[in-house]
Amino acid sequence: MRSIMKKMFLLSVLLFTSPGLMADEFFDGFSADKINSTVYVIHGPRELPTAANRGFMNNPAFIIADKSVVVVDPGSSHHSGVMVLREIKKITDKPVSHIFNTHVHGDHWLANEIIKQRYPSVEIIADPRMIKKAKAGAAQTWLDNMLTMTEGATKGTKIAYPDTAVSDGKQLKVAGLNFNIHSVGIAHSDTDIMIEYVEGSTFFTGDNVGYLRILRMSDGSFRDVIKALDRAISLKKKHYIPGHGPSGDVKIVQSQREYFNILYTQVEKYYEEGLEDFEMKPMIEKALSEYKDWDGFDEELGKHISLAKLEVEKAEFE
Ligand SMILES: [Zn+2]
Repeated sequence: MRSIMKKMFLLSVLLFTSPGLMADEFFDGFSADKINSTVYVIHGPRELPTAANRGFMNNPAFIIADKSVVVVDPGSSHHSGVMVLREIKKITDKPVSHIFNTHVHGDHWLANEIIKQRYPSVEIIADPRMIKKAKAGAAQTWLDNMLTMTEGATKGTKIAYPDTAVSDGKQLKVAGLNFNIHSVGIAHSDTDIMIEYVEGSTFFTGDNVGYLRILRMSDGSFRDVIKALDRAISLKKKHYIPGHGPSGDVKIVQSQREYFNILYTQVEKYYEEGLEDFEMKPMIEKALSEYKDWDGFDEELGKHISLAKLEVEKAEFE
């Protein structure tokens, strides 16, 4: 009896002294969707980080290779990493050998560390600009912001930086599979890679594409992201996995390209006419009415117009 009491006491100490490491039943509500015979995606909520969604909002993905598993963007926290490992375990006992991180925004990669804890030799791959920016302070800023936005739900999350840098045009063999890296200028952020998984005819766009979700562009360039999406479209892959929102075929990429193209060309036109941001907004809102029900439309549109106007102004001097 005494030993059972002692065990229970120890268990409760363990549970209540490390709240960030407790199992979180919120994550029980998600499971991996099978895209094809080797690719799986856990489609996350299309919201911004909150206490309710624990900061989970992206699309962690994994690819089952011959002897190991390749993960793409495991998510924002310790808990989302645990969920990714749980979903992999349902399908295979193979270890995780590689992780790709599409860009520096913390909702995509702060879960690296829990996977590295489980598989210490895991190789983490990203754009060199991402690694530099993360180490220069962006990682810590994201960790802090995530903790604040989720009211502490991401507590316990630690940083594991990528260790392998890959740039545009790089072809690499990872876990016996072929991957091509695409990175076009500044695009969604100035740290993006898009990942083409050749055998699976699958293309991971990172946040260059959101579907049914309008994404932030405060680190980006509209002109470059359009170029990046032209590249993605030209490759004619069977499956496209966006950074946020449902996966699909090339139409989801075309849809996102259309949004950026309408936005930028309209801003260009009204800028030439001498209009201010707030004066052009009603017309642009109308031109983009097809997107009005996408999550984040109301919050992001005004910001996108201001950012696009700055980019148009800057382009005048090129
Ligand atoms: Zn992003």
